[in-house]
Amino acid sequence: MQASSETQSAAGRFAPSPTGPLHAGSLVTAVASYLSARASGIQWLIRIDDLDGPRNQPGMTQHILNTLNAHNLYPDRAPILQSDRMALYEEALARLQAENQLFYCTCTRKTLPPSGPYPGTCRHRTTPTPETAVRLRVPDVRMTFEDRIQGPQEIDLADVGDFVVKRRDGIISYHLACAVDDGSREVTEVVRGADLLLETAPQLAVMSLLGGTPPTYAHIPILTNASGQKLSKQTAAAAINPRTPSSNLKQALRALGMEAPPAGNDDWTPQRWLAWGEQRFDLARIPRTLPAGFANIAS
Ligand code: GLU
Ligand code: ZN
Repeated sequence: MQASSETQSAAGRFAPSPTGPLHAGSLVTAVASYLSARASGIQWLIRIDDLDGPRNQPGMTQHILNTLNAHNLYPDRAPILQSDRMALYEEALARLQAENQLFYCTCTRKTLPPSGPYPGTCRHRTTPTPETAVRLRVPDVRMTFEDRIQGPQEIDLADVGDFVVKRRDGIISYHLACAVDDGSREVTEVVRGADLLLETAPQLAVMSLLGGTPPTYAHIPILTNASGQKLSKQTAAAAINPRTPSSNLKQALRALGMEAPPAGNDDWTPQRWLAWGEQRFDLARIPRTLPAGFANIAS
């Protein structure tokens, strides 16, 4: 690991939430973001998205970092914890408030429609009040961006609606924190799971209101389990075994569309797998959706 430095340079990042152990899908994402950064000659950072305190599992941040280290996935700087960056998020909120982009929502799950975008009920409540959710006044525009894997995207922000940037319990939302962090000049590329493709539009909206510098985006296809559900903590995806890093990396590289490795790879170290992957990494070869054969690498 390189010593942490004050110099800011271009970087990619992997941003797990410490709500459960890494599973096969999160390892594929970690490897993709790492190899992409290496291939572009930029730094690779780890950011721990730990703002949702009630959902965090004790000891999980360290467990995730240990698992990544077991796979030789070392960041170029000390891992960043979002919980250490509250001042930045509060400053962003203060700027949005000063520009009249925020309002204070007293709606409850009961009073809100069961689905669809927020109906705008509280848009007139522009004076900060404690214990109300804070929502962003989302502009009614179409966001377009080019995804490096999924192609051109066009998302109507009217369908997204005024989203929560700070919850009633005081927790800063993922969209706000992620937009502040990814909109910094340092983060130049985001490589993450395609389950977050549509989340890009609200994040870009925040970045544009704050004058941030948007990164490039590449959303890699999602691994599914045998029943076709995406691997996640909700579907109880198996934690990856940190004692078999070489075989985990071998499967992750296959999932990223790489050719079968040469014979005699049984004793390859994680370092060697990553070096092999680095030479072959090509976003253009990552399938938009995974072929069926890669669907079950977790089991
Ligand atoms: N921490 C979130 C997750 O694990 C977001 C990650 C991201 O934006 O890359 O799903
Ligand atoms: Zn409301």
